[in-house]
Amino acid sequence: MEKKELINSGKVKSVFNTEKDDEVIIEFRDDMTAGDGARKEVMDKKGAYNAVISAKIFNVLEENGVETQFIDLPEVNVMLAKKLDMIPIEVIVRNIATGSLVRRYPIEEGKKLDPPIVEMDYKDDEYHDPMLNRSLIRALDIATDEEVNILAEKALKINEVLTEFFKDAGIILVDFKVEFGKDKDGNILLGDEISPDGCRLWDAETLDMLDKELFREGKDSEVMDAYVEVYNRIIPDDEKVI
Ligand code: 5GP
Repeated sequence: MEKKELINSGKVKSVFNTEKDDEVIIEFRDDMTAGDGARKEVMDKKGAYNAVISAKIFNVLEENGVETQFIDLPEVNVMLAKKLDMIPIEVIVRNIATGSLVRRYPIEEGKKLDPPIVEMDYKDDEYHDPMLNRSLIRALDIATDEEVNILAEKALKINEVLTEFFKDAGIILVDFKVEFGKDKDGNILLGDEISPDGCRLWDAETLDMLDKELFREGKDSEVMDAYVEVYNRIIPDDEKVI
């Protein structure tokens, strides 16, 4: 698959056109950022670990009836994907209270959230991803009421599937962020990535963090070991490529 012109360069991924109108190549770079891009470091092989972890998770979701943009992983840090018109909403699902939730609301750190909280943020670093509600989404004209229902339903289904998937690997899925987009026929598909960059993953026994929160806390030297640990636990030996 030939890489054509760059169509979007995000904080950690670059998206390129291909010779097919409805497919893109997504390159996972080794950049790691925090604070809406205010802090940035390069972490060796980070792009590859996130791409392989995302590909595995997208495959697991597809097997469980969640449609994703994933087509193939031709190189360890390169994903071939269906081209989507991305919806600028970060859908966040929370199973345990932590992070910005406990900073913004009087909810006890570590409280189990059953049913999970579904939150939607406006994806825009300039505005620091502010939280949305239905009337704001309508006013911003970014999704219809029906589409908001679909996003919430899909995010909860993803939570169900991945909570079990990570549990089998001895990992607690604390919370995560997903993004969706529309394919050429208007179907809403899961896009972007699901990796330790956008999930809180805790070791089920020690409750050690295995995700980007380490970097957000300035523990830069520990972060890649955590990503490798997640990779080793969820990628079977015969699928290991890094
Ligand atoms: P919080 O709102 O507590 O900071 O984050 C909740 C969850 O969503 C965490 O798993 C976090 O990684 C993810 N998340 C929220 N916003 C972003 C974002 O802008 N980028 C990434 N990569 N993850 C996010």
